This record gives sequence, C-alpha cells and structure tokens, in this order.
Amino acid sequence: MEPQGDERPVTGPHAHGAVNPPVVRSSTFTFPTAEEGARRMAEGDGLVYTRLDNPTTAALEAEIARLEGAEGAVAPASGMGAIHVALMSLLSPRARVVVDPCVYGCTYSLLQKLAKWGIELVPVETTDTEAVAEALEPGADLVFLETPMNPTLRVVDLEATADLAHEAGARLVVDNTFATPIAQRPLELGADLVVHSLTKAIAGHSDLLGGAVAGSQELLEDVRLWRKDAGPVLDPETAWLALRGAQTLELRVRQMTRSAGHIARHLEGLGHEVRHPLLASHPDHTVAKRQMPLGTSVFTLDLGSAKAAMTFLDRLEHVSSAVSLGGVESLACHPASTTHAPLGEAGQAAAAISEGLVRVSVGIEPTEVLIEDIEQALSGLAKPQAARIQA
Ligand code: PLP
Repeated sequence: MEPQGDERPVTGPHAHGAVNPPVVRSSTFTFPTAEEGARRMAEGDGLVYTRLDNPTTAALEAEIARLEGAEGAVAPASGMGAIHVALMSLLSPRARVVVDPCVYGCTYSLLQKLAKWGIELVPVETTDTEAVAEALEPGADLVFLETPMNPTLRVVDLEATADLAHEAGARLVVDNTFATPIAQRPLELGADLVVHSLTKAIAGHSDLLGGAVAGSQELLEDVRLWRKDAGPVLDPETAWLALRGAQTLELRVRQMTRSAGHIARHLEGLGHEVRHPLLASHPDHTVAKRQMPLGTSVFTLDLGSAKAAMTFLDRLEHVSSAVSLGGVESLACHPASTTHAPLGEAGQAAAAISEGLVRVSVGIEPTEVLIEDIEQALSGLAKPQAARIQA
C-alpha cells in the first residue's frame, strides 16, 4: 500500500514500492487546507515543520523503539543532545539526581552545569546497591546510570536499581550505548527512559552523530517538546544513515561481542591484565551474565604504565588508535590521556582508571586478524600482574 498524505513511511513498502523509506529533505510541509494546518498545530498531530517532526526521523525512531521494546523514541542530533533533552524533561528546580561519577564525562559535566539552576548531584557508585539505597533515602528525583561503564566496564544491576529508585519515588534513566539493545534491554528491567549515542553501535560506521531517547509515550511527550524548543534536531539524511546502520545492528553486535569475548579470554590466558564482563575475573561477572549474556564488544587491557599503553597503541597496525566505539572497525584508545583526561589524576584514581589502561572496541574484522595485530603490538611489553585493575 502506498502512503497517502502524511501517513508515515515507517514500515515498508514505501512510495513507488521502495523497500527503504525515502529521505524527506524538506524543512516544511504543505497543509491541504488552512484549517488542516490549524488543526495540526493545535493537536500536534501531522507534519508541519522538520524541527517538530520528519518522516525519515520518525522511521528511525520507530526502529529504535522496536529495538528497545519501547512505546516510542525521539532521536535528537547527538547522544549528548538526547541526554540533555531527557534530563530537561524530567528535572525541575531543586531536583536531586543520584549519578555515578563514572558516567560518560560530558554527561557528568552537563549535570554539574545544571547545578547552577539548583539541581543537586548525589555522586554514588551505582554498582553498590546499598550505597544507591542510602543515597535515595532522603528523597531523590532521578537516578542516572550507564552499564557497562566506560572504561571500567563495571556492570550495574538494573532490576535492583530500578526497584530501589521506584520505591524512593525516583525515575531511572539508563544510558544503554555500550551494551546496545541487542545485548541489554533496560526498559524491560524497570528503567523509565533509555538514552543512546546512535553515533556508536546503532549507526555503527563511525560516520555520523546522532542520539535517541526511548520510553513510554507519556514521558516522551515532554522530551519531544524539549527537542523542538531547544532545537538539537537530527538532519533527515543523517537519520536515514542511522536507520540503515540499525538494520544490521544485531548481526554486527553478535559478531563484535563474540569476537571481543574470544580475544579477551585469549589474552587473559596469555597472562595479560584484561577486563571484560564475561570473564570470571570481572567483579560484576554474575550480574553481567544474567543481564547481558552476549557481553560487550569492548574490553580493556592494563599495561601498567602510560608509556607501555602508548607504545602498544602506536604499534597497532590493523586496529586504529582513536576514541569512540561500536563501529565496524576496531579502535583502541588510552582513556587517561584522551576520553578521561578532563578528570585529572585524582578523578581518574577515584574512577579506577589507571595510567596503563587501554580500551579496545572490537569491530567486525576476522577475530584472528585482530588477535595477530594485538599480540604483535604487545610483544615485549611486560605483563603487569600486580597492576590488576582495582574493582
Ligand atoms: N553516552 C556514552 C556512553 C558515550 O560514550 C558517548 C560518547 O562517547 C555519549 C553518550 C555521547 O554521545 P555523542 O558523542 O553522540 O553526543
């Protein structure tokens, strides 16, 4: 059936029998009658202007909602745009936010900026459910967490945390970027909203920035209004590319997580200090196995010193030295001097980010090619048994 009028091309076939939805590159949409224009504006229903709604972005949003098992989704221009509109929609003056200082740096810094408007931050290690319960005791409005966390790969028990948050009358927002909805579905475990950097695994090709918020239509209503009024709108062309990436998400995640688990086990077997949630040596192994049995496509290596970490990165031939993760190509970075440099030495020590830590995001290349590359880059470097990452 061909879409008529403003019928959304969310599920195919689309106009002309196209298998894929069209890129609707139009900032504005005609009203068949002036009265219909007035109705669309009054009821917020029907196409008016791309900052409010766009059919290509709506197709992407429908796919994100399907992946997360959510009633709906809103896709802003970046992961930070998504986190911003989600927070603005849920917070009010003097809100108390329980948050792990180990969440993505820009998320924490955004929350710190909001303190200027009277938002109170309660930093807590969210892997410690007793500490979360204590932090929630005096009353809180929101718990914001990431699992697995970056780059420590600590895993938070989502079901237990959602129960604690709800008992205290707080909402739970989970950044599911690292896990992806293929490996972990926080809404099913009690989260109220899930946020994503589509930039990472969902789009999957390191060629765009995008974000998403998924949850109930009731909560998304205000998220949509914040996107409209604050303006971090995803360009329709970018939405289309992200949707194309999302079509292969499951295949990529299955390959990448299998490969990452295999490489991590192999390197641990050689005596290296490796962290991956599916290794029995991981401090949250039991929760990880239950909550995200596929694991994650990221593992870390502790090489004992910044010098060894940088030597390793410079020796890699196939794996590129770059920040970001979740793409089809494998990337490695040194968090202490790049992604987490703004934390400073004390902040890094508090977040258990050692100077010898290297984060590896495993792509879809053959596992043996990656193992060969990593082994040649490691050759001659010490195996710092004593430097086991502190839990
Ligand atoms: N959340 C996590 C866990 C991230 O790693 C990032 C970026 O690295 C973001 C959010 C922000 O996403 P974006 O760069 O798309 O704004």
